[in-house]
Amino acid sequence: MKPAPFIYHNPLTPEDAVSLLASNEEAKILAGGQSLMPMLNMRFVVPDHVIDLNNVTGIDGVTNRDNLLEIGAMTRQCDLMANDLVKSKAPIIPEALEHVGHFQTRNRCTIGGSLCHLDPAAELPCLMAAYDANLTVQGPEGQREIPFIEWPLAYMIPNLAPDELLTKISFRYWSLNHGFGFEEFARRHGDFAIVAVAALLEVDDGKITRAAISIGGANISPVRLVKAEEALIGMLANEDTYKVAADIAQEIESISDAYVTSQYRQRLAGTLVQRALVKAGDRVNRS
Ligand SMILES: Cc1cc2nc3c(=O)[nH]c(=O)nc-3n(C[C@H](O)[C@H](O)[C@H](O)COP(=O)(O)OP(=O)(O)OC[C@H]3O[C@@H](n4cnc5c(N)ncnc54)[C@H](O)[C@@H]3O)c2cc1C
Repeated sequence: MKPAPFIYHNPLTPEDAVSLLASNEEAKILAGGQSLMPMLNMRFVVPDHVIDLNNVTGIDGVTNRDNLLEIGAMTRQCDLMANDLVKSKAPIIPEALEHVGHFQTRNRCTIGGSLCHLDPAAELPCLMAAYDANLTVQGPEGQREIPFIEWPLAYMIPNLAPDELLTKISFRYWSLNHGFGFEEFARRHGDFAIVAVAALLEVDDGKITRAAISIGGANISPVRLVKAEEALIGMLANEDTYKVAADIAQEIESISDAYVTSQYRQRLAGTLVQRALVKAGDRVNRS
């Protein structure tokens, strides 16, 4: 199928993109197009206007400011994987992106597109939940900062008004000797995860001092396993301890769908949390 006719716009600045969004009803942003184009072709979305961000300046690239990584919304997934700052400060990101789609899709897909599309099983929202990322959106009245926990409003609905644009994602990176592990189970390589887990750990003198565990795919948006994170603090970083977190993960509220049951997702969450924590624990540079 081909998309229904629409008017194409090619703004050069974020301000122009926002004013096009504000002045045209039924407008859609085009980023990497890897989700939008199929939806247009299948006529799941039928916008009157498509606003292309690909020539907008100043909303891509990665910078390091005061222990904060700032990532422009139009940064491609392939560029995140190759970026030296990301590789050194947040190595879980390139590891997780290996699971996202294929080489070809990662060349086009953007971090902003993934966060706005907000598939519950997508890897980047799961990672941004683990990092407590902050999202910057620009609208006609100016900028708004949204903590990731307030980003998903409902199934695949981000906290974004029709005339707002996601421009930047920022998060404070962890100490250089933190451990990290990303695990997921998908039916085939490149498919969306059935369940995905991101784990970050800091350990001092053998004991866990900081933990973040985020689970994607289990429910309608990624969730932090706060109870398990709290249970880990002060415990020895070993497999018995990780089992405590895995048991908590098995009780996570989960959805059933045409592929698997909620119980299956819960079992998977437990197994993947255990694996991700083992990996994170092994990678901690214990001082
Ligand atoms: C074969 C294939 C396999 C894939 N596998 C995976 C996978 O395993 N895991 C995964 O996470 N994803 C997967 N994807 C999806 C992909 O990762 C896309 O990154 C993502 O869904 C959309 O990113 P995009 O930049 O292409 O955005 P687009 O498709 O251009 O846009 C997606 C949506 O977000 C909106 N949008 C985009 N950018 C902005 C912005 N800055 N501000 C406001 N709104 C915006 C658009 O209007 C649209 O509604 C796959 C895609 C394909 C084609």
